[in-house]
This record gives sequence, C-alpha cells and structure tokens, in this order.
Amino acid sequence: MDIPISCSPVFASFDALLMASAQRGPEGDLQPALPAYDFYPAVTEPASGVSVAAIWTGAIEARASHAFVGGSRNELRQFALCAVLLRHPAGDLLLDAGIGERWQAHARQLLWLQRRSMVVHAGVPAAQQLARSGYDRARLRAILPTHAHWDHISGSEDFAGVPVLMNETERRFIASGHRSTRVARMLAPRPLCIYAFNGPPYMGFEASHDVWGDGCVVLVPAAGHTPGSIIAFVTLSDGQRLAFIGDIVWQMEGLERDVPKPWLSRLLADYAPTELRRLVHRLAALHRACPDIRFIPAHDARALRSLPALDASPPPPLHSEAQRPG
Ligand SMILES: [Zn+2]
Repeated sequence: MDIPISCSPVFASFDALLMASAQRGPEGDLQPALPAYDFYPAVTEPASGVSVAAIWTGAIEARASHAFVGGSRNELRQFALCAVLLRHPAGDLLLDAGIGERWQAHARQLLWLQRRSMVVHAGVPAAQQLARSGYDRARLRAILPTHAHWDHISGSEDFAGVPVLMNETERRFIASGHRSTRVARMLAPRPLCIYAFNGPPYMGFEASHDVWGDGCVVLVPAAGHTPGSIIAFVTLSDGQRLAFIGDIVWQMEGLERDVPKPWLSRLLADYAPTELRRLVHRLAALHRACPDIRFIPAHDARALRSLPALDASPPPPLHSEAQRPG
C-alpha cells in the first residue's frame, strides 16, 4: 500500500477565522467558526478522472423524529446505507462500505433497543455490485470508513485483502472495546493503513490529511459521533466540491436548521454528544458560508441520490423484504 501522506502547501492557515466565534445562550457554549465565503482553499489544477459513484447497499426506515430535533413522528425517512466509490487516477477509494453479505450477523451486535427501532431493507452488497459492473478490483486501493460503526464497515468484510485506511484515534477506539465497535472487532483481519492528520489547517479544522497530495481528497478530524470520525472533502474533475460528513448529522436538516439528533438517538449513537453539538454548529456555519460545497450526510437518502450511481444507473430499487435484525 503506497498512499502518500504529503500535503499541498498551497492551503493557507485559517486559524484566524476560528476567532470569529459567538455565544449562543440556551444551547451552552457553542463557539462556531464563522468562515468567510472565499476561504475555501482552491485546488489549483483539479486532476482529470476524479469522480464519485454511489453504491446503494440498502436503506433503513426510520421516523424523522429519530433523526433530528424537530423532525416529525409521522414522517418516515429512508436512511441510505451506501458505499461511495471515489475514482482517482492514482487509484480508487471506497468511502464507507455499506452493509455486506453478513449484515444480519453484524446487526445482531447492536443493542436490543437499536435493533427494535430499526427496519432494514437490504440490497446487494457493494462488492457484488462492483463485480457485476465489471469493475477492475485492482484499481481499489483502500476502504476509507468515515467511522467504525457497523453500518459503515459491514460491507468491507466482502473485500478480502483490500486495506482499510484509518486514523490512529479510531483504531484505538475500536481496540478500547467500546460497544459500538463490536462489528469492527469481529471482521476478518485485514491490512490497516494508519494515516495521520499531518497536513495544514483546512476549512477551519485544525489539521488535515491530503490522501493523494493534490487536494482532491482531503480528510479532517471530526470527533464527536466517534472519537476518530472524519469529514472527507472531495473535489471532482469538473470542479464540484463535496463534503462527506459521515454521521455528524443523519439528515440535512441537522445542518440546515443547526439542530442535533434527538436525545435518545444521541444517547444510543453518539460517543461525545456535547463535542458533536459544537461540531454541528460549526458545520452549519460552513454550510451557510459555502453554498458551492454539497454536504453529504452518510444516511441522507436525498443527498446520496444526488450523486451519480454506479454505472450511471439510478439507485437500485429496494425490492427486498424489510427485516428487523435479531
Ligand atoms: Zn451510520
């Protein structure tokens, strides 16, 4: 595995922007970065051949009231379970892996309350979809989870021998035995490539890791949902800019309304809710300030459907019967 760790020096420091903070009374000491609109670091020469494709492996059915404060109990939302293929001339990455062939065994590792509140529509695992599409597996350099929860790594089990790209904080979180990382520990051993945030500040985050050294895939630490959660900022060849934000919020309303997950969802899903609340507030400001960046929460089906699907086909319909794990 030869993933460069160098970072482009063209990115300026944006620490000063962090100084522009504001207090928000009832929600405590939220101190957001208020970025200037023009501070997005430019990619001087977007590489050709950089594109994304969403691979739908299934969806979870849940009420909007489970996803964000203010969501309706009467509105059912589809929570996407997707992998995203990031194609790059230097090699491809699979951002998250969706649910895989053994998803039911993986889901049984969840708490009873989580299983009971979840209805899963399982589709075709990402590895099978890629094989059927004629994808050359040799192009896949690594799987890059936004974080180590089961619904983001279950499908990685079907990619034998493909390294997993992870930061040390998330690796330690898994090794700590935390209940939310049981599936990560039960997956077959595989090469682990540990990267460090050894690059300069980026988009108001204190450090970064530029995967290919050309600004096309830049990772920043985004602790809260899990300690080693990341955001992946991606710039495509056509200039589109995307921010894959994992489970920082579950639906876009979290950013659009600057609201957290409801308390029970926070209790069950978020490792450090207070830290995550501050991060949501910062990201909501970034979202307002940078309308040219498309933010993609990992489970927002509308956001995922806005991406091209594998083989330029529409997202596969979820024909399978809904199942309640365990
Ligand atoms: Zn998730």
